[in-house]
Amino acid sequence: MIPISPHGISPAKSGNKVSCPRFPQFPNARRYPFGIRARATSVSNHLAKRVPCPICRGRFDGLCSPLGTDGLTQFFDCESCGRFGVTREADDDILSTLDPNSIERAIISHRIRTNQGGRGPIITFEALRATAELRLPNPSQQVTNLLRYIGDRVLKSGEPVLLDEAAGPWIGCASHQALTRLIVAAQDKGLVSPAGTDSRTRAHGGIVTSTSYDLTLDGWDRYEAEQKGLTRGSYGFMAMKFGDPSLDELSRSVIKPRVRTDLGYDLVDLRDVARAGIIDNIMRAQIRDAAFVIVDLTHDNSGAYWEAGYAEGLGKPVIYICERNKFDLAKTHFDTNHCTTVIWDLEDDLAFADGLIATIRRSLNLFANSNPK
Ligand SMILES: [Zn+2]
Repeated sequence: MIPISPHGISPAKSGNKVSCPRFPQFPNARRYPFGIRARATSVSNHLAKRVPCPICRGRFDGLCSPLGTDGLTQFFDCESCGRFGVTREADDDILSTLDPNSIERAIISHRIRTNQGGRGPIITFEALRATAELRLPNPSQQVTNLLRYIGDRVLKSGEPVLLDEAAGPWIGCASHQALTRLIVAAQDKGLVSPAGTDSRTRAHGGIVTSTSYDLTLDGWDRYEAEQKGLTRGSYGFMAMKFGDPSLDELSRSVIKPRVRTDLGYDLVDLRDVARAGIIDNIMRAQIRDAAFVIVDLTHDNSGAYWEAGYAEGLGKPVIYICERNKFDLAKTHFDTNHCTTVIWDLEDDLAFADGLIATIRRSLNLFANSNPK
């Protein structure tokens, strides 16, 4: 059972398959129009033009249209990736050299699709280089995303959902095949059920027929639990001010390794997850799916306090840490004074790490030798 036709049915997609001089290694690529960088294209007629998406290369059959350029950045609207801009440097030096089926393209596509708004994120050379350290959501997170994708749309329309060209990138699948396997796995788990075949109109025109899906009762239970942030992820999130050499070092060489070896959780911060694209949505999702959140209060960082409040509101275990001198002299914000705060001191990072691990363990009701993985 294939959720999406492997060959999206659209009159606009067929034809014009010529060897592309810009991508000679892809003989079946549709022609990339010359001069689109220099020619501003009005929004009203952009849907008439098609280009191979510089990010996903159409791996989910999404059609892509150029939206024009501001001289430095070329803007696109892809049915799969969404709206985004690509700088000339990013396109020339990195994107055009990537294999069309590379995992990097899937990772960037997922980042763009989950950060839509306005003209979408701008993909720069630096953002692309940082994707080398990023990964797609793991299979468990992909199942959660699939339930969100279907559940959100069923609640809006009251009808079963046809998975469109944007579904794979939004969920974080690497390919059509990966999405199909995920759906089969979710069906086997009794979370998702097929609801017949239906047709839909594509965003860029044309009609496609495929299987529609709904959630089962168990699927809805899990959807609701996840919406409330009750699903415990397999990682912890750390909210902190960046750029303090002492704290950066403590995080890198003490906190993250100890949490990993003692508790079996990866500990991520915004630098690990949000290098490409807008960070707000990613940060919310990361906190919502985290098993616990560590917040450093040393710098009275307003972002860290906001993240702590968001996590507390979701009912996540929040563990506060603070540098000893700051805690003794200036005190932290009064709202968190009553909360357990683990004091750190570079002179004695071993005692701090022991105290932190014990506190996380208590917060998660873990026994000393338990391992969540
Ligand atoms: Zn795309």
